[in-house]
Amino acid sequence: MGLDYRQTWTCYLGQEKACGQCGSCVERLDAFAKMGLTDPVPYVQI
Ligand SMILES: [Zn+2]
Repeated sequence: MGLDYRQTWTCYLGQEKACGQCGSCVERLDAFAKMGLTDPVPYVQI
């Protein structure tokens, strides 16, 4: 705890929207899921 994921932008691709596919995105989504939160960051629609 102590890390505010809402203020992080960790996608490896560094594009306008997070890819939702790279290890960083997957880790981030997993963290939000475990906290029961919805990631406010926009993700590319696959
Ligand atoms: Zn990504």
